[in-house]
Amino acid sequence: DITSDQILNEQEKTIEKTLRPQYLRQYLGQNKIKQQLQIYIQAAQKRQESLDHVLLYGPPGLGKTTLALVIANELQVKLHSTTGPSIEKAGDLVAILSELQPGDVLFIDEIHRLPKNVEEILYSAMEDFFIDIVVGQGAEAHSVHYPLPPFTLIGATTQAGQLSAPLRSRFGIIEHLTYYNEQELTAIVQRSAEVLAIAINEAGAHELARRSRGTPRVANRLLKRVRDFVQVAGDQQITATNAAKALDQLQVDTAGLDQTDRKLLKMMINLYNGGPLGLKTIAVNIGEEQETVEAVYEPYLLQQGFLKRTPRGRVVTSKAYQHLGIKKAQENGD
Ligand code: ADP
Repeated sequence: DITSDQILNEQEKTIEKTLRPQYLRQYLGQNKIKQQLQIYIQAAQKRQESLDHVLLYGPPGLGKTTLALVIANELQVKLHSTTGPSIEKAGDLVAILSELQPGDVLFIDEIHRLPKNVEEILYSAMEDFFIDIVVGQGAEAHSVHYPLPPFTLIGATTQAGQLSAPLRSRFGIIEHLTYYNEQELTAIVQRSAEVLAIAINEAGAHELARRSRGTPRVANRLLKRVRDFVQVAGDQQITATNAAKALDQLQVDTAGLDQTDRKLLKMMINLYNGGPLGLKTIAVNIGEEQETVEAVYEPYLLQQGFLKRTPRGRVVTSKAYQHLGIKKAQENGD
């Protein structure tokens, strides 16, 4: 994901790994996806076939990487992990494919960023489990047919729209991960607190959950930060009161908006009277990549009803004005 590497330092990455659910029953929320996967996994096992290729898409931190690991564990096969941008040449992909054992899972994160020539090799690999590679040069050049064992490709992307049609059509299972509700996130916070031996009561877990942007990764990060505040204050456990105080200090508001979310909305209000505004203009004005605005910030603001899409661009809603305590200058069609 775009944000995961930027936000997480090494230590946090290690903790994130220990917090990662290993099996479907530990994977909380996304119930519809879990039910479907359970059936597909069982069916593939009954037929002793590899699971059909899976495309997971949705905003960062919602559990795509985790789900790939869970699927491999449920299938009792090895998981091979890589990312789109790290596969630069056709040869890089061939090296990865040649490691696969029958039934293995190959996980490619940020699959929308695969170079075109690499992507094209994937087509025959996914469809008929072979690759044709050209070896030698000039008059010596000839194509070698290289069979592969049946395997499952799991692709993850925050930008499903950027996936080419030929690649997309080769995934038999396509799942859209959506933001978690407060109840699901509360359960995730409680599970993480247990794994990390952090004392927290139910109201404390709920306070963290509702301010976590619907995102497990954010919930886990805030849990660790709030623990710091609470320990320094000498409290025995995380409660709604001390969590709220810590989160205020971390500038995470009651709707889960962080500084950048608020900066985006305020910029639109102050400079453009709430819009409508194109993605590009938004990105330039808050100093973020357009891709990041589209994949990270906008989806949550849309989902929460702080932004809405119109044919002329994004518009700040009355709910956002109210939330930020800003009076609307004049009607902007909202
Ligand atoms: P993505 O690949 O979508 O960016 P990850 O799979 O890396 O997200 O998830 C980020 C973290 O959130 C993981 O380390 C994991 O601890 C936690 N997490 C994600 N989904 C769940 C879930 N459904 N249940 C419990 N924890 C989860």
